Amino acid sequence: MKTFALTRASDSGQAIATAAKATTAQQGAEIRFIGGGTTLIDLMKLNVEQPETLIDINRLPLDKIEALPDGGLTIGAVVRNSDLAYHPLVQKNYAVLSEAILSGASAQLRNMATTAGNLLQRTRCMYFRATEMPCNKREPGSGCAAITGVNRSLAILGTSEHCVATNPSDMCVAMAALEATIHVRGTKGERSIPIADFHVLPGNTPQRETVLEPGDLVTHALRDAKPQSQNGFKIELAKRCLVHALKLATQTV
Ligand SMILES: Cc1cc2nc3c(=O)[nH]c(=O)nc-3n(C[C@H](O)[C@H](O)[C@H](O)COP(=O)(O)OP(=O)(O)OC[C@H]3O[C@@H](n4cnc5c(N)ncnc54)[C@H](O)[C@@H]3O)c2cc1C
Ligand code: SF4
Repeated sequence: MKTFALTRASDSGQAIATAAKATTAQQGAEIRFIGGGTTLIDLMKLNVEQPETLIDINRLPLDKIEALPDGGLTIGAVVRNSDLAYHPLVQKNYAVLSEAILSGASAQLRNMATTAGNLLQRTRCMYFRATEMPCNKREPGSGCAAITGVNRSLAILGTSEHCVATNPSDMCVAMAALEATIHVRGTKGERSIPIADFHVLPGNTPQRETVLEPGDLVTHALRDAKPQSQNGFKIELAKRCLVHALKLATQTV
């Protein structure tokens, strides 16, 4: 594991200005925000990620789950997955989100993991984590070991000749079903991105996973009014082990 500097942000403007000095917000970023650290630290230990600087954002005031007057909900970037899953409003109106989160990881992990960190977790493709193997996502141009290798739990839709990885987040599946928007603050101000546009397909640049640019800080996720129907039901479309998101593809009706 490479030596790195750790700073604790007390002000989001300062954190954004520091992170904006990175050349990318994608694979290879020299500066990274850190929430729960449950996936970033693992990747750093494996030398898949080698940031020089981590900015701890846990002290920023992004830890609230708030009901909006119109019935919607905002979820702060550093809200822990457990707090979100067990929040009474989420359990009552957005059960799919609560259940999706509780279907993943473990209680200990969910107690640490944050909303933004969950949104931005990296693929569980085993070759991505094995630095001795070719992987276009980790090292662009090196090839894709998964295409001819062990790929049973990888993607069949939205793939490219360069990468067949899946997004592993259970929470994102529910957020997509709920049509949440992701709110980002960066050097050019604030913007909101529908979750369907937040992650990008691998195409020719699998190292790029989201629309985020250097300095972009996810501040919160928002679900507009239109609580899930009390009569809503879930259809489990697929259940597979190993790759988290493939365990639960849920449609709310
Ligand atoms: C053993 C194990 C089992 C797991 N099982 C599951 C599972 O079944 N289902 C599932 O969905 N997940 C699973 N996970 C993944 C887990 O959900 C993630 O590790 C967790 O959600 C990441 O959140 P974090 O806050 O710890 O992220 P971190 O590790 O802190 O950060 C992850 C990424 O997000 C970036 N980031 C964090 N906050 C921000 C922000 N505000 N703005 C911009 N960038 C930010 C970081 O720079 C980093 O790149 C598992 C993980 C482990 C270790
Ligand atoms: S599927 Fe994507 S992440 Fe997996 S080895 Fe290929 S390029 Fe890397």
